[in-house]
Formats: sequence, structure tokens, C-alpha cells
Amino acid sequence: MTHADLPAPRIVSRDAHNISRKQISQNALRVLYKLNEAGFDAYLVGGAVRDLLVGGHPKDFDVATSATPEQVKALFRNCRLIGRRFRLAHVIYGPEIIEVATFRANTDDGTGDRELHEGGRLLRDNVYGTIEDDAVRRDFTVNALYYGVRDFAVLDYVGGWEDVQHRTLRLIGDPEQRYREDPVRMLRAVRLAAKLGFAIDPASAELIPRLAPLIAEAPPARLFDEMLKMFLAGHGETSFDALAQHGLLAAVFPETAAALVDDHDGRQRAMLRKALANTDERVRSGKTVTPAFLFAALLWPAFRRELGLLAEKGLDPMAMQQRAADRVTLHQAHRIAMPRRFSIPMQEIWLLQARFDIRQRKRVFRLLAHPRFRAAYDFLALRVTEQPELAEPVAFWTEAQTLSHDGLAERLAAAPHPVAPADETIAAAPRKRPRRRRRHTSASDSGTPDTAP
Ligand code: ATP
Ligand code: MG
Repeated sequence: MTHADLPAPRIVSRDAHNISRKQISQNALRVLYKLNEAGFDAYLVGGAVRDLLVGGHPKDFDVATSATPEQVKALFRNCRLIGRRFRLAHVIYGPEIIEVATFRANTDDGTGDRELHEGGRLLRDNVYGTIEDDAVRRDFTVNALYYGVRDFAVLDYVGGWEDVQHRTLRLIGDPEQRYREDPVRMLRAVRLAAKLGFAIDPASAELIPRLAPLIAEAPPARLFDEMLKMFLAGHGETSFDALAQHGLLAAVFPETAAALVDDHDGRQRAMLRKALANTDERVRSGKTVTPAFLFAALLWPAFRRELGLLAEKGLDPMAMQQRAADRVTLHQAHRIAMPRRFSIPMQEIWLLQARFDIRQRKRVFRLLAHPRFRAAYDFLALRVTEQPELAEPVAFWTEAQTLSHDGLAERLAAAPHPVAPADETIAAAPRKRPRRRRRHTSASDSGTPDTAP
């Protein structure tokens, strides 16, 4: 769709919508007024307008304008130009950044700076255009509403106003083409539907399972960012359900999806959903959440599955766990680029699990003093959902944290606990593995003979 196909915009006047200036960041308003005073068009656009219309609290305020990035820079002393794929102006007010983007077009008349991948994927996109062009190159109709401070009206070129009223997420233009241009839009559909409680329009939803494999082409660093937005913004549990429902789980977490296929009693899924629900709860109450813990939970089914596959190789339990952790991390990195500052603590959370079985005095004290103890202990508590027998170690370690050094020493002396093999509760999970079929093993596999039949 080009803007030439568009009728005149629907103009929703200030008394016909619920957005008031009080809900908008002072700094964003400053930017809008200043651009207007300099003779440029300028609007609040995207997530902020959408969220305000549904009564939400936008976390950031983006501005679209007819001014070029250089013209914006000339107007604001506190302005930096950033980006290559999208050249943007950031106007900086202390901790708040107002992102100012020049109206851009999605069609190439040969004059602009634009690059397309063979599959139709957009690589670079710096073709400036009109507000109509800018509206149609956005992803969903509800993300293409413009709020201006000349008349405080909302401008709608693509039917977004109606879709907000009907709580519908609908891609602008031809859905298949829009997903092919940028497969991450499939994840955005699921995430925004979960966040807003909107339904995805059937024409935009039904293509997703078929086009899901295109996500493998998206840059892994971008997918990591998208995963954080999806799972660390307070609606992770519903997002996870929606990912699974729309056939996207295997596209982002292939090995977890494979493990969940064999999760016949549903306990692995239940544990994962519990982890996400706890995270959502923490976000809602303003507590910190860490990507390491989140990914430890999201990839735990994959880790357990890998342990099951390695179990037949007769490795030493600790070596086996390290190898399983490394493999899962490596395989997942092809899809989602998790920085090492998160993947290392994620692995620690996994590898510490086996140490909760050991009640030798020295090792108990050493584990309690481990910098990752608290995260690993929280993870152990979560695992009770999957393995109810872990209630006993959870009770022990809960008590251990409340006792004084001497109290704990006495407690351990009074009730000596048999020293369990390090992998008892982790590797003892029954892995229902088809006997005859030989699983694919990766190139990272070192020379250990594969003893699988
Ligand atoms: P939220 O901030 O709640 O995650 P958002 O819609 O604001 O949601 P952003 O990533 O901040 O998401 O994007 C801002 C706006 O940029 C969107 O509302 C949309 O108009 C446009 N946009 C973002 N990503 C895309 C995309 N992949 N394709 C087309 N337009 C996009
Ligand atoms: Mg936003």
C-alpha cells in the first residue's frame, strides 16, 4: 500500500478522545511545541498514543516530524543523532530520551537510501516521506495514530482508531508482505496482543504458524531485545501462552519447544509458566528481575532434555551437566544473542541445582556463601512445580538461611543427611526417549563414543 491509496485521514478531535496533555511527558510536549514553532509538523506517535487511548501509561514517548534529523539537531542543543538502519534524533533530558524520527516512506522511488534483502526483508530504510507514508510503513494500525499539539486531535490514516475501539491488532497492508519484510513483527503481534489484551485480526494471525520459520533470519541481538520486552515487562506468562498458541515457540526456543513436546504430564510447562508468572508479579511490584533467571527458566526444559540425551554416554555427572549447559547455550545463541553477562549466571543457576542435594557441613556453608546462592535457591523453589519431591530440600535450605552459623552446624550434626550423588534430582528425571531412533548430535560434541543404540 502506498499513501496514494489512502483517503483523507480521520480526525478525532480533542473532545472525542481521552488523551490529555497531563498524561504526556513534559519533555515530549516541549519537543512538539518547539518543532511546531520552527514551522515543522510534529506528532506524538506509536506506542504512546496507543497506550494513552487504552488508558495505559506509556513508558516512552516517540515523536514523528517533517524535520530531517539534521534540522532537529539544529533546533535542540541536547540532541544526538543515532542509528544507521533508522537515522533518528535523540533529544536528551537527563534520564529521559525523546526519540524524534523524520516521517519515513516504505516505498522506494530510487531517491532514498534503502536496501532490501532478497527475501523482501528490509535492511536499511532512510527514505524520508510524508506523514501518510510514515503511517503506512508502521506495523499495526493502532501503532499509526498521530497526536498533535496544534489542535490536540488524533490523526488516523489506516483505521487504527476503529481498531483501538475494537481492541484489534491488525497489520497495515498485505500481512504476508509485511511479515516477510520484517519477521519480528510476528513476535510484536503476540507481545502487543498480550500486553494490551487485544485480539490479533484473523488475517494477521493465521499466517503466523506458516511464516514463523522466517524468524530464524532475524538478527539474534534484536531477538534478544524483543525477548526482554516480551518477558520482562509484566505480561510474560500471557506472552508465552500466545507464542505457543501461534506456533512461534519453536522459532525462538527450538530446544525448549522440542522438550515440551515430550512433557506429557505438563509439569515442565507448568514450571515455566510459574517462573513467568512470578516474574510478572515482581515487575508489577517494582522488584528487580534478571535476564539470567528468566533464561534459566525458559531454557530449563532444553537443559533437562540435553541431560537426558547425554545420560547414555556414561559421563561423570558434573561434566555431563557442564556439557549440557554449554550445548544448550551454544545452540540457543544461533537464534537469540544472550550476552555472556547473562548466560554465565544462567548456567550457574543450573549447575548449582545439583549441590542442593549435598548436606556435608563444609559444602552446605560453601553453597550458602555462593554469590549466586539466592537465585539458585529461588530456582530450586520453582522446580517443586515440576518435581514435588524437591519440597524437602527447599524446606531444608529455607531453614538453613534463617539459622546462625552454630545453629546450622548443630542442625547438620543432629540430622546427618546421606550424601546424595550430585546429580540425583536433576538427572533422575525420566526422559522418555524413543529407543530406536538415533538423535542428531551436534558438531560441538567431542570424541565421546555415542553409546546410543
Ligand atoms: P512498546 O513500546 O509498548 O513496546 P511500541 O509500539 O511503542 O510498543 P516500539 O518498538 O517502541 O514499540 O516502536 C515504536 C513505534 O515504531 C511502533 O508503535 C510502530 O509504529 C513503529 N514500529 C516499531 N517496530 C516496527 C516494525 N518492526 N515495523 C514497522 N513499524 C514498527
Ligand atoms: Mg515504544
